Amino acid sequence: MIPRTLFNDDHQMFRDAARRFIAEQITPFHGEWEKVGMVPRELWNKAGEAGLLCPNVPEAYGGPGANFLYNVVIAEELGRAGATGPGFTVHSDMVASYILSFGSEEQKKQWLPKMVSGEVVGALGLTEPGGGSDLKAMRTRAERDGDHYVINGQKTYISNGQLCDIVVLACKTDPSAGAKGVSLIIVETDRPGFERGRRLEKFGLKAQDTSELFFNNCRVPVANRLGEEGMGFKMAMHKLAHERLIISVNAMAVCEAVLEWTVAYTKERKAFGQAIAEFQNTRFKIAELTAQVQSARVFVDRCVELSLDNKLDSTDAAMAKIVACELQCKVVDECLQFFGGYGYMLEYPIAHAYIDTRIRRIAGGSAEVMREIISRKIFGAER
Ligand SMILES: Cc1cc2nc3c(=O)[nH]c(=O)nc-3n(C[C@H](O)[C@H](O)[C@H](O)COP(=O)(O)OP(=O)(O)OC[C@H]3O[C@@H](n4cnc5c(N)ncnc54)[C@H](O)[C@@H]3O)c2cc1C
Repeated sequence: MIPRTLFNDDHQMFRDAARRFIAEQITPFHGEWEKVGMVPRELWNKAGEAGLLCPNVPEAYGGPGANFLYNVVIAEELGRAGATGPGFTVHSDMVASYILSFGSEEQKKQWLPKMVSGEVVGALGLTEPGGGSDLKAMRTRAERDGDHYVINGQKTYISNGQLCDIVVLACKTDPSAGAKGVSLIIVETDRPGFERGRRLEKFGLKAQDTSELFFNNCRVPVANRLGEEGMGFKMAMHKLAHERLIISVNAMAVCEAVLEWTVAYTKERKAFGQAIAEFQNTRFKIAELTAQVQSARVFVDRCVELSLDNKLDSTDAAMAKIVACELQCKVVDECLQFFGGYGYMLEYPIAHAYIDTRIRRIAGGSAEVMREIISRKIFGAER
């Protein structure tokens, strides 16, 4: 196997600590959380104490001041353990990342230390019932009234929706200006006019609190806006590349874990007097999947390197997402086959991996939108 070159001994120590935390504080309880549809609020504080939230936030804002590679380690360890309930990557890699990149000094000082400790949980509100792929068409409206915005609208499918204390919310501040009419506003969830809707019932990611959010004449100070008015679409496009990279990182870890489980299982399980691993079909299929995962891993790692240098563009990120996520769908499907009936039983992690994987072609930008982004680069934007 091609050795990974991203990490040093410090990252390995951090990985060991993250793996221990997940094994002790998440894995034993995940099944229960799936039944109630969310993780307990205290998990966030424990994760904060253990240094697993927002590791790349600088010391000046209460963080450990590590780099993005520590976020990568957390996303990988969550993926490897099948820990799909805790929305840590949405919190750290999306919400905190927006504030870190585009927030004012005051906003950073106000929110980031509490996001690092887990005192504040973040959610990202882009998608609406009318559509998520076409962000420009959003209808949530923020109308200026003196030094406040008055927000009306609705978001849906919002991860961390039941537990969040703040939402980085995409709204139209100028509905006539298309993409240039979108702004991002930090909305505290204790403001009058904010209401949580249903915790949505999903067939996978069952421990993740995905929700509707409502805004009914919700007054928010103009000082809560991230960056300039009308720059929200541009900021979201920039950050969506980062989101797609962290999804790809997580997807690769799932692929590798699933392959490990499958190799172990097929060595043990017998049929027709031999281990399933001895059938040529098994060996060839696992060999082929391993080669594909290894190739994708090298590409995703290279994208991580580009991201560390601030050189990852939206096309690279779209390629990483489509390659890693399509491969995850293929790997869990084909590996599940080797488990036979056990693969269909929820007591086996492979069954969870299978149902939790389908989202990969939808959330964070659908597979079709990724293809669209890549083809625009190839053929030009005009059609
Ligand atoms: C579990 C879960 C968690 C989520 N978490 C969040 C979150 O935290 N915050 C948030 O804002 N959103 C979140 N989402 C929303 C997610 O990002 C959207 O579902 C996704 O972007 C697709 O938007 P949509 O569902 O409105 O589908 P639509 O926009 O209605 O698209 C439906 C389908 O149409 C096709 N399509 C759309 N556009 C094109 C195109 N240009 N070319 C070709 N085909 C196209 C694709 O096949 C696509 O899947 C989450 C969704 C889920 C299910």
